[in-house]
Amino acid sequence: MNCDDSLVVANCLLVLCNRLTMMIGRQIERQLEVFKVEGGFTEGLTAERLAYRKQQSVSADAPVCPLCGKPMIKRVAKKGINSGKEFWSCSDYPQCNGTRRI
Ligand SMILES: [Zn+2]
Repeated sequence: MNCDDSLVVANCLLVLCNRLTMMIGRQIERQLEVFKVEGGFTEGLTAERLAYRKQQSVSADAPVCPLCGKPMIKRVAKKGINSGKEFWSCSDYPQCNGTRRI
């Protein structure tokens, strides 16, 4: 390999690195656009899990929400004077704050 060949090879490598950097940059920009519209992978998984949990926890004897009419889910109060006690909560929570005593 003479001096000219080395220069050509070095130049080719530089061009290749530059192209790859540009391609990766464009790919990241495209993924960012998709992320803005559809949300991230973890976000999608959380939405699926919450929908499944909601579907599982709506029992046949569940009353309907006094505010919006959707089925209610049995929950346990985590704080306040009713802490530890069960109550009915709207399945549309947090969009709806409807509750009923059990
Ligand atoms: Zn409701």
